[in-house]
Amino acid sequence: MSDIIQILPDHIANQIAAGEVVQRPASAVKELVENAIDAGATHIQLIIKDAGRTLIQVIDNGCGMSTTDARLCFERHATSKIRQANDLFTIRTMGFRGEALASIAAVAQVELKTKRDTDEVGTCINIEGSEIKDQQQCACQTGTSIAVKNLFFNVPARRNFLKTNSVEFKHIEEEFFRTALIHTNISFTFYNNDKLIYQLQSCNFHQRITALFGNNYKERLHPVEESTKEVKIKGYICKPEFAKKTRGEQYMFVNNRFCKSFYFNNAIEKAFSDLLPEKTYPSYFINLEIDPALIDVNIHPTKTEVKFIDEVIIYAVLRSAVKKTLGQYSLSTEIEFNTIEGLDLNPAPAPRGYIAPEPTVKVNTNYNPFSSNNTPSYREPKSNRQWENFFDISNETIEDPKQETLFEAETNTEEPNIEISTSSVVQVLNQYIVSNLGSGLLIIDQQRAHERILYEYYMGHTAKEIVSQQLMFPVQCSFGAADAEIIAEISNVLEEMGFRLNRLGNTVFVVTATPTDMNDDEIQTKLNEIVDDYKNSLMQKFNDKQQSVAMSIAKRLAVKNGKKLKQEEMQNIIAQLFSCRLPNVSPFGKKTMTIMKENELSEKFK
Ligand code: ADP
Ligand code: MG
Repeated sequence: MSDIIQILPDHIANQIAAGEVVQRPASAVKELVENAIDAGATHIQLIIKDAGRTLIQVIDNGCGMSTTDARLCFERHATSKIRQANDLFTIRTMGFRGEALASIAAVAQVELKTKRDTDEVGTCINIEGSEIKDQQQCACQTGTSIAVKNLFFNVPARRNFLKTNSVEFKHIEEEFFRTALIHTNISFTFYNNDKLIYQLQSCNFHQRITALFGNNYKERLHPVEESTKEVKIKGYICKPEFAKKTRGEQYMFVNNRFCKSFYFNNAIEKAFSDLLPEKTYPSYFINLEIDPALIDVNIHPTKTEVKFIDEVIIYAVLRSAVKKTLGQYSLSTEIEFNTIEGLDLNPAPAPRGYIAPEPTVKVNTNYNPFSSNNTPSYREPKSNRQWENFFDISNETIEDPKQETLFEAETNTEEPNIEISTSSVVQVLNQYIVSNLGSGLLIIDQQRAHERILYEYYMGHTAKEIVSQQLMFPVQCSFGAADAEIIAEISNVLEEMGFRLNRLGNTVFVVTATPTDMNDDEIQTKLNEIVDDYKNSLMQKFNDKQQSVAMSIAKRLAVKNGKKLKQEEMQNIIAQLFSCRLPNVSPFGKKTMTIMKENELSEKFK
């Protein structure tokens, strides 16, 4: 029997290889633009027609090629970017595999025009399905123009596989963004079907982001910068309130190359964690500068995935850099003030002829309920019933919303100056606190709001000092062996949050103080719940002790839905919620409030 193995002819091998490199028009765009960048271009023009099906052309003013190179560049493994395997560890160029042009030329009709600065005339080559059709001298500018026509003309299966023009165009635009975003010193123009759609001057990173995403990003962006010996971080994050429903606006670059890293993305999202509503994702534009020797970009042919040696350190640096920015600019604080700018808790004017009845509750106007350091309980601690002082309580009557009694809660200067009128606060379904806003209705979910208040308090975000309630008689709590270890592990965090406990033997703890007035018989249950929550949070990979315990305590101590609240308790929640960093969402990412605007209301009466 004769031998059966054959070496595939080049054009077939190229076509097969092309499958990996050129999946769709957008991949050709990426490769061509990257080549232009590697060629040192300062201006790049991208021209496409029919979402790249009929034409993708990239024109650059880079170094150009000699006639020999112009021919060679279409060979497989033809590259000027590495000479030996070791070069891979110092690679700074976008490409290095020498596969792109060979692949593109295998599945399209390509016209290349190129000239170096030192040459009198340029070279023009036409190649089709890997076959050189024509080569001539030509007059052209210094630089290179590559026109890719009728992509997949010889692979109908792939051509049919392409999506609609609008989908393919989106992919191209995305590739363009990924490149143009980070190469800010290069000017770009992008024509789609003869229409100029992007014209980008050379500029800084901030300007490039706004040039691509719109001027309204100017206010959204906040710089992230950090420099350690492992990594230099530079970029921007968007304020949490502009988080998106998809991960579409997450741009991470490593040494100016767009890169996807689930791990690093997680570092950023973790930094945002308690600031974002559920199922929303922060927008960011961040470049990591890392010694190329510590990266392996060779892992995936289209190179958006990268492997790092100092992964864990970089993760930590990145996370804390983003956290720092979030803290430094108190991004979340701005939200609250934006939200309550229109907050005017004065009731609507009384109808004409209406005379308000005498208040039935006496008000001690000198009493300032916000001035002392108290646990932000929706009701104030037993030991210090300040609201009783405030309202001089003889008054279950005050729960009656018809009582047109108007208070102005005095606030100290650090607190937002909200004028609260009790007549405009109502509890609905024992769950929602509804208040009159100048511009409509404010509806607050009592439990979620109180969770947010307590969470920020136990995280130490509020100015209030964390109060510990000394127990009259110490309470013994006992745990299973594993749970006892957990209590020991988080005991310092528990102490920071107001518990005082001493270990008595292996599984028994004596509690002498609790964060807030807890009934003695609740303490064991609460601690069990905290341990359970902590165990659950351990399942999540990137666990933060303090955050997890604060979330747990907030969840366990918050006033529950279904509980009837008094006027002052509701007032308390509103006032404390609006002095939170992020009043809009609970620590579990759930909405705490919603506003029904005037026009929405009038809509309902149509
Ligand atoms: P790679 O970029 O991996 O080296 P390519 O197939 O993309 O492989 O390109 C092959 C070679 O052709 C490059 O190494 C480069 O020398 C040359 N080349 C490609 N495009 C350009 C361009 N726009 N300007 C100058 N040289 C280019
Ligand atoms: Mg290349």
